Amino acid sequence: MTGNARYDILFEPVRIGPKMARNRFYQVPHCNGMGYRDPTALAHMRGVKAEGGWAVVCTEQVEFHHSSDITPFIELRLWDDRDIPALARMVDKIHEHGSLAGIELAYNGMNGPNLYSREVPMGPAHLPVATFTYEPVQARRMDLQDIRNIRKWHLAAVHRARRAGFDLIYVYAAHALGFLHHFLSRRYNERTDEYGGSLENRIRLLREITQETKDAVGHDCAIPLRISVDELLGEGGLYQAEVEDMIGLMADVPDLWDVTLAGWENDSRTSRFAEEGAQEPFISGIKRLTSKPVVGVGRYTSPDRMVSLVKKGVMDLIGAARPSIADPFLPNKIRDGRLEDIRECIGCNICVSGDFTQSPIRCTQNPTMGEEWRKGWHPERVRPRGSDKSVLVVGAGPAGLEAAHALGKRGYAVTLAEAGTQLGGRVLAEAKLPGLAAWSRVADYRRLQLQKLANVEIFFMSRLDAPSVLEFGFPRVVLATGARWRRDGVGHLHTRPIPIAPGAILISPSEIMEGQLPTGKTVLVWDDDHYYMGGVIAELLAEKNYDVVYLTPASEASTWTRNTMEQHFIQKRMLEKGITIHGFKTVESVAPGEVLSACVFTGRKTRIAADAVVLVTARLPNEELALALQACREDWADAGIEDVTSIGDALAPATIAHATYAGRRYAELLDNPPLPEGVIPFRREIAGLLPLREGNPT
Ligand code: ADP
Ligand code: SF4
Repeated sequence: MTGNARYDILFEPVRIGPKMARNRFYQVPHCNGMGYRDPTALAHMRGVKAEGGWAVVCTEQVEFHHSSDITPFIELRLWDDRDIPALARMVDKIHEHGSLAGIELAYNGMNGPNLYSREVPMGPAHLPVATFTYEPVQARRMDLQDIRNIRKWHLAAVHRARRAGFDLIYVYAAHALGFLHHFLSRRYNERTDEYGGSLENRIRLLREITQETKDAVGHDCAIPLRISVDELLGEGGLYQAEVEDMIGLMADVPDLWDVTLAGWENDSRTSRFAEEGAQEPFISGIKRLTSKPVVGVGRYTSPDRMVSLVKKGVMDLIGAARPSIADPFLPNKIRDGRLEDIRECIGCNICVSGDFTQSPIRCTQNPTMGEEWRKGWHPERVRPRGSDKSVLVVGAGPAGLEAAHALGKRGYAVTLAEAGTQLGGRVLAEAKLPGLAAWSRVADYRRLQLQKLANVEIFFMSRLDAPSVLEFGFPRVVLATGARWRRDGVGHLHTRPIPIAPGAILISPSEIMEGQLPTGKTVLVWDDDHYYMGGVIAELLAEKNYDVVYLTPASEASTWTRNTMEQHFIQKRMLEKGITIHGFKTVESVAPGEVLSACVFTGRKTRIAADAVVLVTARLPNEELALALQACREDWADAGIEDVTSIGDALAPATIAHATYAGRRYAELLDNPPLPEGVIPFRREIAGLLPLREGNPT
């Protein structure tokens, strides 16, 4: 059946209630920052997953009633019939490729402040709404009429979901993200009526809703139940033994058990904090409690691991969100025996940041993610080349590698020149930092792909200068020469260099990654970058037995990593490694043996002793070559050069995801006819206007 019989088991069909999944690959619900704002972009993104072989493709959470919205997050809505067409479009895209479409109906309850609908949030108890932002809003305790209403609303949404064409209609009780989870957990449920107290009581609403859903549509829709196996809070919250008892009580009521771990931040931990399959100990006991199929996640990208999960009876379906984002064609590649073509997720959670920043999903490994309809990009296919003009790519970091790869696939003759001896640029250096080893996959995937392209030539130890570029005389030149960390303190706070006295010992992150270490015992790390680098450098130095003092003008370490759901884990690890963390502090100047710091509020100055200082603030593009080529522009024509373009960090330093995107963008656009003036280079949807008097004003 497959290119390798060992993997045949992954391609066995699995019955889920009245439906049949064509194989064991199951894209579990995942958010994406597109939701109701970008329905067609979302429909195409899901459609590409189906095309790539995922037998089941699910939505993100779908709000099923206006009295609970999750604003500012942009998810899907199924509030009334008007929401059906957007969802039906997604279903159609999924069905086009023979996959099953699943919908995750959600009512956030005390997890959503209702900033859009302005309804009063409801939950099992009077409690502050549990958001990431400490919203000053409380949820009210639901009474029995509220419970009857919510059952009615759920049922109405179930019927709408069926009309939209969904094959699987979820009952969602996981991730602490909805009322059903809140009713289950003693942490939130302090009720004394028949919906609180004992396990039987706390599970009552879940059981009622699951049964009602089955009775209503179970004859032709499958009803998965999604549950958290442990809240990791001990007996104060849901814990494994209790949840297993719950599952025992409802063993065969749903058609499928979708098991998750605690809150989303635990279920989707970055590779820095969790290995592939970290959830397995929590999932492995579930199958013996039910005769129904079980699906779970674990950032699984290894087919051997998947086979073992099925054979060991841990799960029947291999659930994935991130592996399906990084490689929508992962199932087909396994089926066809093309394992070396798998674009493995690196576990960075940049995809998650799309949801947290309400912007369309992006992926470090898969630069086409979210752009399937917006820009017409496809993770596996590119258009044939638009001319015979060859391309020189300078620099083999993520930007240069992706450009060379996509240009090579388009059929251009490409020469890739790299100053060093390996492919990968910054990811090679960063993958050596504590916890970031998986990042080397960005280079691994592209190295293997480039090996297959006879039209891409790679030259190592080739640091190019302007005369050599002119001498080569390629019509197109792409500069992907990367960036270096600054040493002058310029960052978000200081936009001008700070005073650094002679004799002060300063070392930059670039130098540390090149293998240098500071002299002395106490090192101060000043983090005005706020993503992972400051925290990870502090961690590295602590591991090397320095006394590390970490200063940030923000309230917490690596504050932007809230968007990748890592901040809490990072700060915990830093504290456990003995790093002293000072929030709300600046570095004003550096002198031998000390820095002058100031409070961000009062400006009050303090001196902090430090033998050496690492300034993690900002980077500067390696633009010497670009500037030198600009300076000899008049020589280009004679040399046969038509165009020189800087991309990635060489243009403006940003994330690795920005770099792979930049490489892809260059390759996608090459030889495209220019867009007419004023035309936006991507598709977008605009809300349809209602006639002024239509609608339901109260
Ligand atoms: P990006 O993230 O934009 O891809 P990186 O910093 O990861 O940037 O990669 C830049 C790569 O370019 C590095 O591998 C570096 O060795 C290489 N490089 C920089 N300048 C030159 C040059 N003048 N000639 C060839 N290679 C270069
Ligand atoms: Fe994996 Fe990172 Fe892509 Fe998310 S953004 S799917 S974590 S590689």
